[in-house]
Amino acid sequence: MNVLFSDPASCCGCGACAAVCPSGALQMTADAEGFLYPTLSPQLCLDCGRCRTCCPLQAEDYARAAKAEAFFLVKHCAPAVLSASTSGGAFTALSDAVLARGGTVYGAVFDKALRVHHTRAVTAAERDAMRISKYVQSDLSSVYQPLREDLRQGKPVLFSGTPCQNAAIRCSCADLPQKAREQLFLCDIICHSVPSPLFWEDYQQLLAAEAGAPLVWARFRGKDIPWSRANSNRGFAYRVAGENAIRKDDRFYRLYLSGLPARPSCYCCPYTDLRRSGDVTIADYWGLEEQDPASYDPRGVSLLLVNTAQGAMLLQTASSWLLRQQRPAAEALAAQQRLREPLARPNQRAAFWQDYQMHGLAYCFAHYLPPKMC
Ligand SMILES: Cc1cc2nc3c(=O)[nH]c(=O)nc-3n(C[C@H](O)[C@H](O)[C@H](O)COP(=O)(O)OP(=O)(O)OC[C@H]3O[C@@H](n4cnc5c(N)ncnc54)[C@H](O)[C@@H]3O)c2cc1C
Repeated sequence: MNVLFSDPASCCGCGACAAVCPSGALQMTADAEGFLYPTLSPQLCLDCGRCRTCCPLQAEDYARAAKAEAFFLVKHCAPAVLSASTSGGAFTALSDAVLARGGTVYGAVFDKALRVHHTRAVTAAERDAMRISKYVQSDLSSVYQPLREDLRQGKPVLFSGTPCQNAAIRCSCADLPQKAREQLFLCDIICHSVPSPLFWEDYQQLLAAEAGAPLVWARFRGKDIPWSRANSNRGFAYRVAGENAIRKDDRFYRLYLSGLPARPSCYCCPYTDLRRSGDVTIADYWGLEEQDPASYDPRGVSLLLVNTAQGAMLLQTASSWLLRQQRPAAEALAAQQRLREPLARPNQRAAFWQDYQMHGLAYCFAHYLPPKMC
C-alpha cells in the first residue's frame, strides 16, 4: 500500500478522494498520530484522476466560495437553544430553515463509543445531536454519497463542518447539475485546529481508568458557567457508567489550545482569512464583553459571516428564529486569530508526538500541559 500524498501537511483528511474513487483503490487509514490519510492499492487504481480533482487542497483557490461580505452578531430567540448550543445557537436556526423546507442536515455527532463522525439528519431531534463543538477531527467518510443523493433528488441540504470539510463537499459535488448544486448550503466554522482522534480516544481511556468505569457521555463546552472566551476551557464535562454525577477536567482542552495535537495541515491551513469555503461562517462572538457590553449575553452569542448570495438567502430564511445585528468587520478580525493566520506549529511538536508514542498521554500531560488560563 502506498500513501497517496507524501507530505502529511498537504492532506486535510477529508476523505473526498476515497469517497469518489470508482474502484475502491483508496482507503482512509490512521497514521501513528491517529489522523486519517488515504492509502492507495495500486493494483485497483484506474488512474482516472477523480481523487485529485475533488481534493480541496489541490483545487483552484482551495475551493473557497467568496470573501466575507457582511458580519453579524446573532443569537437564537429560544433560551433552551442557547443553553444547548456552543455559542449563540446559529447552527440550530440555519438548520431549522433547511429542515422546514423538507431538507436534510449534515453535521458532527458522537457515536456510542464517543467517536466523532458526520451524519445526516432529517428531523430536529436528529439535528440536536449535532449541537456542541466536538474538538476532535470528525470522520466524513459516510456522508458523501447520501449528500449527493439528496441533492440529486432536489432536496435542500445544509452541511456544517470545518472549512476544509466544506471545501471537500464543494469539490465533491462540483460535477452535479447546477440545479442540484443550488440546493447546497455550506456552513463552515472558524476553526482553531482539529486534534487527533487518537488523542481523544486515549483521553477517554485515561479518564475511565482514573474513574474506574468507562465514559458514557461527554460535553466539551457547556453553559453551566457563563459563556466567554476565558471560560471556554473550563467546560469539559463527562459522566462514567453507573454514576449520575458530572465530572470536570480541563486537560484535554488546554493541550488542544497549545496546538501540539493538531493535524499537520492545520499549520498551513488556507482557510484562515476572510476568503471562506462556506456560504456562511459561524463562530463564537469573542470579545463582545469589551466591544459592546450591552450586547454581551452569558448564555452565548454567535458571530455569523455572510460570504455568498446563497449564504444571505439562508440567513434571511433563518431570521425568524434569530436576533441579529450587523457589526463592523474589525471586531471579528480583532477577536479571531483564525481569520488572520493559521495556527503556529509549536517547536515541541515532534518531541511531543515522539513522547506520546513512547510513553503515552499521561506522560504528555505531565510534561507538555500549558499553565491554566486565568
Ligand atoms: C474543531 C473546532 C474548532 C473551533 N475553533 C473555533 C475558533 O477558533 N473560534 C471560534 O470562535 N469558534 C470556533 N469553533 C466554533 C464554535 O465552537 C461553535 O461551533 C460555533 O460558534 C457555532 O456555535 P453554535 O452555537 O451555532 O453551534 P452548535 O449548535 O453548538 O453546533 C455546533 C456545530 O459545529 C459542528 N461541529 C461540531 N463538532 C465538529 C467537528 N469536530 N468537526 C466539524 N464540525 C463540528 C456541528 O456539526 C454543528 O453544526 C470551533 C469548533 C470546532 C468544532
